[in-house]
Amino acid sequence: MAYKPNMQKTKTPVTEQEPAVRARNFKEVCLGYTEAEAMNEATRCLNCSTRPCVSGCPVSVRIPDFLAKIREGDFIGAYAIIRGTNSLPAVSGRVCPQERQCESKCVRGKKDEPVAIGRLERFCADYAMNHPDEAPKTEKPASNGHKVAVIGAGPAGLTCAGDLAKLGYEVTIFEAFHTAGGVLMYGIPEFRLPKAIVQHEIDGLKALGVNIMTNMVIGRVLSIDEIMSDGYEAVFVGSGAGLPRFMGIEGEGLVGVYSANEFLTRTNLMKAYLDEYDTPIKHGKVVAVVGGGNVAMDSARSAMRLGAEKVYIIYRRSMEELPARKEEVHHAIEEGIEFMLLTNPVKVTGSEDGRVTGIKCVKMQLGEPDASGRRSPSVIEGSEFDLDVDTVIMALGTSPNPLIHRTAPDIEADRRGCLIVNEETNRTTKVGVYAGGDAVTGAATVILAMGAGKKAAASIDDYLSGKNAD
Ligand SMILES: Cc1cc2nc3c(=O)[nH]c(=O)nc-3n(C[C@H](O)[C@H](O)[C@H](O)COP(=O)(O)OP(=O)(O)OC[C@H]3O[C@@H](n4cnc5c(N)ncnc54)[C@H](O)[C@@H]3O)c2cc1C
Ligand code: SF4
Repeated sequence: MAYKPNMQKTKTPVTEQEPAVRARNFKEVCLGYTEAEAMNEATRCLNCSTRPCVSGCPVSVRIPDFLAKIREGDFIGAYAIIRGTNSLPAVSGRVCPQERQCESKCVRGKKDEPVAIGRLERFCADYAMNHPDEAPKTEKPASNGHKVAVIGAGPAGLTCAGDLAKLGYEVTIFEAFHTAGGVLMYGIPEFRLPKAIVQHEIDGLKALGVNIMTNMVIGRVLSIDEIMSDGYEAVFVGSGAGLPRFMGIEGEGLVGVYSANEFLTRTNLMKAYLDEYDTPIKHGKVVAVVGGGNVAMDSARSAMRLGAEKVYIIYRRSMEELPARKEEVHHAIEEGIEFMLLTNPVKVTGSEDGRVTGIKCVKMQLGEPDASGRRSPSVIEGSEFDLDVDTVIMALGTSPNPLIHRTAPDIEADRRGCLIVNEETNRTTKVGVYAGGDAVTGAATVILAMGAGKKAAASIDDYLSGKNAD
């Protein structure tokens, strides 16, 4: 019988924790689709012959094909299709900015809401995780005798390691922190991405034979040259962009001012949200978060869950320019975060004993779009005002940590500290050394980091199997 799509205009709703309840706990906000909900949503797909959604996916997941499997009730088959090109579907289904990628190209989105591709991807990954007996078994491939080192266990490094391990390479990941996962573990909070899910993916890599060495800060404990002289024939650098930026305004050294990275690392990795962990972190009562990206939303929503009575997001442009994912902004508003838009801090004020007491801000206005199409904000004269806060979190973006480049000067970086690579192969300026993810692009997205790890793994395989001298 010919397939007849379901023309329901809106996405099948998904169950979420109530805003007032979830704003005080760290459990996952979105509870995911049931089997019936997933099958209903998958029938909203038109099965377009041109497959525009696939072109919107940075790792080209065969979206209409996995949706067809869901419609048939073959959830493991759907999962296998996704896994063919995406090694961390439980992660990307939760955190990818789908509204700017696959879902922005979905034909259903022209008139109605697009198909909820992200929620369906998450559904398949969770189904496979919860039904291990049905899921295909991971088997360690026979070794091809070549050793490759990966620096950094974030999505770029994990993807590169996984792809190489499947080809028989002996892969060791050197990770600076005591836990693998990169931003997935230390940055994105538990309520958006449960750590057990990230750990499940990491365990899958270990089952493929990937060796993960933690507490190994490359550039301090070992240099890249030392790694290479230890028998590793190629190296992939996926060291991310963990160096926080500050505004350079007066008062940023006061007690109670955090970079978002430090605040989120203490919350997530050092488990500040669990009473049994005595993590040193201030549980602010009135918190100002400066910035408008995902990191700012995560910081604000974490501060609320740690017990704040009031949390402000201070952002110098308007709602329209806010770079965070739409869903995160929507959730933050529902949870009671107050957005102070077109506002910019000029000073953090403090008490005599050096603790934050407030933040001085000015109001901003947006001018005409410049050559890049962005409207630049400018200060409205005489608009200065004070806000009483006891904690300030700076979420202004990050740059690559300079350690790798400083300790391996033959790996060139640009003036922002991003490692320079050949776009075709992801090879750096040093033979045998490849790089990808935030270390190359600056702060970007999980799926782009995964895409770069994948591309580099293919290039390393070409290099070591003699297909390509580069
Ligand atoms: C709070 C927050 C929220 C975010 N939310 C989203 C989101 O919703 N959606 C999305 O797509 N993206 C999001 N991002 C961005 C995304 O997480 C990153 O783009 C992605 O993690 C980059 O992957 P990566 O592997 O390049 O680097 P990372 O994830 O940063 O991993 C790098 C790893 O390298 C290790 N390392 C660094 N230096 C060394 C060294 N010298 N030796 C050994 N190891 C080293 C680090 O400890 C880390 O584990 C968010 C980022 C943050 C901070
Ligand atoms: S564009 Fe949308 S409707 Fe068309 S195949 Fe992709 S998911 Fe289905």
